[in-house]
Amino acid sequence: MRICRFRLGTEDRVGVVVDGVVHDVTPALDSLPSYRYPLPHFDPLIAALPMLVGKFRAMLGNGPSFPLEELALLAPIANPGKIVAAPVNYRKHLAEAQADAAIHFNTQIKQIHEIGVFLKANSSLIGPSDPVRLAHHDRRNDHEMELALVIGKEASNVAAADALSHVAGYCIGLDMTIRGPEERSLRKSADTFTVMGPWLVTADELGDPGQLDFDLSVNGALRQKANTRDLVLSVPTLIEYASRFYTLHPGDVILTGTPEGVGPVVPGDVMTCGIEGIGRMTVQVIAA
Ligand code: MN
Repeated sequence: MRICRFRLGTEDRVGVVVDGVVHDVTPALDSLPSYRYPLPHFDPLIAALPMLVGKFRAMLGNGPSFPLEELALLAPIANPGKIVAAPVNYRKHLAEAQADAAIHFNTQIKQIHEIGVFLKANSSLIGPSDPVRLAHHDRRNDHEMELALVIGKEASNVAAADALSHVAGYCIGLDMTIRGPEERSLRKSADTFTVMGPWLVTADELGDPGQLDFDLSVNGALRQKANTRDLVLSVPTLIEYASRFYTLHPGDVILTGTPEGVGPVVPGDVMTCGIEGIGRMTVQVIAA
């Protein structure tokens, strides 16, 4: 199933995407528990997804529907507890980062085995219908195209062999990055610097996340093209690794890392990206 969030007037709605049509299934969310302070650390929709999927399916064709191209899509996850990201998780990107001073800034770029994963601020998250806003024009601002996965079931000290059973689904992720000497968590957490979309493809529908072609173009010119089989730490291994440090909750996001071909964007640019089995999305870049 392909589950999206979209803006209708001033409302955030939830829809199921079928053949270019979005079926509004928002009333199914009435069955979610109403949480009171202190709020949980998980995303309530994703935590309830196994129950909601049946309700969504039963509602298809029984409510309003909209042509996909008319809708403003929001990030598929409204309230991730955390956004975990994998640095230099493709060998050719490690090589390009080590070779380019405008990427490494005299910081020693090491393999992911040595530096581990990092966190991006939740406040950086947007969907594809909102533009990436560049506030630091004096700096190089790069696109990083990545497979994003969403945790569906609490995961702590999970073995790689069991890791995929903890995944709710997958979407496209853009890990936008200001190049420079500061900590990754600062440079990659600017407002609008995490884009997720166009929708969540549930894990049962996507199948194996380790054989997916993907690409990113800027203004129609191809910049990044790779396959997830070239990940240094595979999706299951990343979940195992991260879950040894953090408890992963439903709705937590893991950005799996970018391949070679990262490069700068400037206001006015248009990024188009797609992942096999998920879909495509187009994201504008503007000045903040
Ligand atoms: Mn990245």
